[in-house]
Amino acid sequence: MTAPMNPKWNGQFSCFDLVAKTDECSHSIVRVRDLEIGGNDFVVMAGPCAVESESQLLQTAEAVAHAGARVLRGGAYKPRSSPYAFQGLGVEGLKILSKAREATGLAIVTEVMSEEDVDVIAEYADIMQVGTRSMENYALLEALGTCGRPVLLKRGMTATLEELLRSAQVIAMAGNPQVILCERGIRTFETATRNTLDIAAVPVLKAVSHLPVIVDPSHAAGVRSLVAVLSRAAAVVGADGLIVEVHPQPEKALSDGNQSLTFEEFRCMMVDLQPYLDLQQASRRFRPQLLVVGGVD
Ligand code: PEP
Ligand code: MN
Repeated sequence: MTAPMNPKWNGQFSCFDLVAKTDECSHSIVRVRDLEIGGNDFVVMAGPCAVESESQLLQTAEAVAHAGARVLRGGAYKPRSSPYAFQGLGVEGLKILSKAREATGLAIVTEVMSEEDVDVIAEYADIMQVGTRSMENYALLEALGTCGRPVLLKRGMTATLEELLRSAQVIAMAGNPQVILCERGIRTFETATRNTLDIAAVPVLKAVSHLPVIVDPSHAAGVRSLVAVLSRAAAVVGADGLIVEVHPQPEKALSDGNQSLTFEEFRCMMVDLQPYLDLQQASRRFRPQLLVVGGVD
């Protein structure tokens, strides 16, 4: 499954010594509660773009857990393009997320936008999400070095893979080796989709870095009709998981409704994904050494 190393990549990425693949460390596993991200499981994270209310989140948590998701996503602090758009519920949203974890057993991933919010978000979250707009916020990345939680690092929408790995190296150098990389689409001249999913980023990152790599088909596509097929593509190219937006009533969502799946669409997506995961599973059995990092509960 893993693409062979291209000699050009070696010089380009090996300087990021804490995150680059080496003979001693070819794959690392990030442990989150009872999950092993980057291990044998394909971990699906799902939920609304933003936490809007307790009933919205609890309903969604139940539905995505039932369909096979293992991690609940939901933004309490939202980076919005417009200053007039919904900015998130803040600490109230974090409390709702932790209620949903208690109710369903799902782990929680939620975005952190500022180093000032790291401590409070780390109290509630299992995984700290760094959004595309924050990938090069070095004050934030350094603060995440000592937060005691794994970090989901999204690729900047105009960032190269080298820049993504450089940011991962900053977090690792600051003391936190538990980093999960996320391809979420990049800006190109194409306008038919919200971003262009750089599907090749997955095998390149898997070839040059030992970190787990997941795909966000929702922000890449911008429209719900493409989310399932891009998820299957992610499985085929060897991603370790997905992060997908799901909402009880996408047409009423306060953010990203166009790309959010209904519960039924998410359930069907998970069913249709299974044959592709079975294929991936068969090839993963032959993976070489695994390095286990972390173990935060
Ligand atoms: C999100 O996950 O809702 C989000 C804002 O993602 P991104 O940072 O990739 O745009
Ligand atoms: Mn979103």
